[in-house]
Amino acid sequence: VNRDDDTHYFDSYGENEIHYVMLRDKVRTATYASFILNAPDLFHDAIVLDVGCGTGILSMFAARAGAKRVFAVDASENIAEKARKNVKSNLLDEIITVINGKVEDITLPDGITQVDVIVSEWMGYALLYESMLDSVLVARDRFLKPPATRSSIERGREGGEEKKRGGVLVPSQTRMLMGLCTANEIIKERVDFWSDVYGYDMSAMAEGVYDEAVVDIVEPETVLSDSAIIKDINTASVTARQLSFSAPFELHGTSVRRTAAHAFILYFDAFFTPDGVQVPLETQAHSAKDGEVVLAEVWRVGSSSRPRSPPSAERAARQRRASSVKSKRDKDQVTSFTTGPQSIPTHWKQTLFLLKEPIIVHEGTVVSGTFHCRKSADNSRELDVEIHYVVRNADGEDADPDDHGAMV
Ligand code: SAH
Repeated sequence: VNRDDDTHYFDSYGENEIHYVMLRDKVRTATYASFILNAPDLFHDAIVLDVGCGTGILSMFAARAGAKRVFAVDASENIAEKARKNVKSNLLDEIITVINGKVEDITLPDGITQVDVIVSEWMGYALLYESMLDSVLVARDRFLKPPATRSSIERGREGGEEKKRGGVLVPSQTRMLMGLCTANEIIKERVDFWSDVYGYDMSAMAEGVYDEAVVDIVEPETVLSDSAIIKDINTASVTARQLSFSAPFELHGTSVRRTAAHAFILYFDAFFTPDGVQVPLETQAHSAKDGEVVLAEVWRVGSSSRPRSPPSAERAARQRRASSVKSKRDKDQVTSFTTGPQSIPTHWKQTLFLLKEPIIVHEGTVVSGTFHCRKSADNSRELDVEIHYVVRNADGEDADPDDHGAMV
């Protein structure tokens, strides 16, 4: 990351608007709130590091969940200053310490060298755009307690030996997925637009559309294939090097009629587990139906008019309340959200890679290939993506690229 990429990047987080957009995204914010406030065992008396605290929202959730100390770090001077004010307005400044600086450079105060939990909302478009995960991994390697061993997790679950807990990263797992969609509207808006601009033919501009990813909302009914996981990331163990990768994929057509797919779509899922345990590949992420409802439940659980650490009797009562709400939930249900087209749209929307030659897709079609992702040479916060693929049909016939008549 060179200095210029960073200056612009952190300046952009100094503005109000971006934080408004993120906080208003209820799928995002309520899922974090729901996880943090329903994991009292994880946060109770814990030392927490919030990497990229922004307004301080996740730090305040952590304090509410019983954290004993929270370090809220942000490299953007403007927003760190605001976070400090937000923390103070909510009388949480005895628990939360805001630190302005890059998490790569800072030291923690009071001789503290290790934290129990790292919370961070580092996800960018298509998951890895912005490359903020790299910074979270540096923070993990600098400050997070080593993860729990499997046996200590099991002991913990059996209610045995307390306090042998290891460091946990929130979220614990993220996943990049891809699929195919029609993208008719997007082609109309972004490609056809250039054929007549105030009466001028600007088709030369349309060429460029295919070289850049498009961020837009894909309507669920325009999806033409199943989804393929192209990267499954255990945040506790992944290395920065593994974030440049090539992965094979195989997509299966789902449309009954032969339909032209104009784009590959890319999106991500995020999973939250209190012990860092990974969910298997077949487990799909689910966003809570209604962020309002999740928040209402969360506030009930965390409700305490008292902003500071309540005395232990009250804290115990609060934890009992918390666990009674928790027990009403499906025990095996993992907290998660998805930014996929079949679910509630988030501010990440979906990322599309438009195809010059559409792929004709129907139920027997298999599109397989390799997905390549690496940091852009020009700007380390951008990504270069290449998708190489072949199309096969069950009947042995090749998809006919001229068959535009089948477009829905
Ligand atoms: N946690 C907040 C903000 C998330 S946006 C929320 O959930 O609403 C990500 C924030 O991380 C931005 O404010 C950005 O300035 C900060 N950030 C990104 N990389 C960082 C780094 N290396 N060190 C410190 N802060 C960083």
